[in-house]
Amino acid sequence: MEQDTRCAEILCIGTELLMGNVVNTNAAYIAKELAGLGINLYHQSVVGDNPARLKESLSLAFSRADIVITTGGLGPTYDDLSKETIAAYFGRKLVLHEPSYQRMCAYFASIGREMTENNKKQAYMPEGCTVFDNPNGTAPGCCIEQDGKTVMMLPGPPREMKPMFDHWCVPILRRGSHTKLVSKNLHFFGIGESTLENKLHDLMESSLNPTVAPYAKTGEVMLRVTASVTDESEAEALMAPVLAQISEAAGEFLYGVDVGDLQTAAVHLLKEKGLHVATAESCTGGLVSKRLTEVSGSSEVFECGICCYSNRIKAELLGVKENTLRTFGAVSREAAAEMAAGVRRLSGADIGISVTGNAGPSASEGKPVGLVYIGVDSLPYREVIELHIRRTDEDAREYIRWLASSNALDQILKAAKKF
Ligand code: ATP
Repeated sequence: MEQDTRCAEILCIGTELLMGNVVNTNAAYIAKELAGLGINLYHQSVVGDNPARLKESLSLAFSRADIVITTGGLGPTYDDLSKETIAAYFGRKLVLHEPSYQRMCAYFASIGREMTENNKKQAYMPEGCTVFDNPNGTAPGCCIEQDGKTVMMLPGPPREMKPMFDHWCVPILRRGSHTKLVSKNLHFFGIGESTLENKLHDLMESSLNPTVAPYAKTGEVMLRVTASVTDESEAEALMAPVLAQISEAAGEFLYGVDVGDLQTAAVHLLKEKGLHVATAESCTGGLVSKRLTEVSGSSEVFECGICCYSNRIKAELLGVKENTLRTFGAVSREAAAEMAAGVRRLSGADIGISVTGNAGPSASEGKPVGLVYIGVDSLPYREVIELHIRRTDEDAREYIRWLASSNALDQILKAAKKF
């Protein structure tokens, strides 16, 4: 396999980034994508909206990298000077790019607003560049390739930057490589990123082809295994031993490969097995139902969701015993079990799932914030799990509800596997 020796650098432009008013998520996104493409990245930097300092940063970046990817400063305002400064660095003039200008005219006409001279400025592009059109905003991006150096300029807003990077930059970045990258995304739940990394530390360090890189999201971890091959048919064989090692070390937490998320994995498995699920949610207020029904095709597997906040509904609709509520409280193992059994009985679903807990911010029924019970009721699998989600900051309530819903989805998967 030929090693990619090219080196890239990320340069994010914007005074708001320097001041800490905006978190630099663009750099994180691009860095991960470059790693996936197998392109070396040794530096990233941030510079304010100042042409002299931008020029300085650009010279420094090109003194150590072949490819510089910039974000920000392409907008219509007076401080958006990226294009002018970078074009001047390459000794190029800005010229009106007629297709971009026409697109902008059509856009402003469609929203009934007049286009200003400032807006027109966005259609001036460096002479001889490749223009990246921007279906999600007005500022196009572009690429200049000259004397072995490549600069790609992308807009600042992440919702414009990411699709532009994927659509335009990736093919250009791949063009310089003789190899193809084939990836598998392995999704884990119930194990923290650091624990997973500990288990797989040696493998992650030593495995160069395929590479193994972790990505964490709230309550979940994803490992991307990427093989660099000249022919796609080689990928399976190259990946197999690494996948086997990962499975051996953490297979019990692996809920899917290339499935996207827990709810998608749950809906797919339920569909595959011809099963139906029904939910009874208290502290998550319908979040489990919401996540399940986000997946297209969920109508084939989702029977109903009951948001049973009050004890009266828990008792009258779901048949939770008055005595259970009085003796153990609504946030209890016993109530969770009866809620799950109740919603299964009521709906006729194969799997009933319940969530009851305290999402805070203050203790209730003497139960601490973050105590959550998830109940599962089905013929082959009946379980109540107890969670202690410790978090006290201002986002704690949202976090507790999210993690509780993720655990409920995980329990649906566990139950479905038992059929
Ligand atoms: P616009 O056409 O919207 O002006 P632009 O290319 O000029 O786009 P900027 O003005 O630099 O972009 O930034 C616009 C907004 O995009 C910022 O206020 C910020 O919310 C977001 N943004 C900019 N850079 C980043 C970044 N590196 N990471 C995350 N968000 C960013």
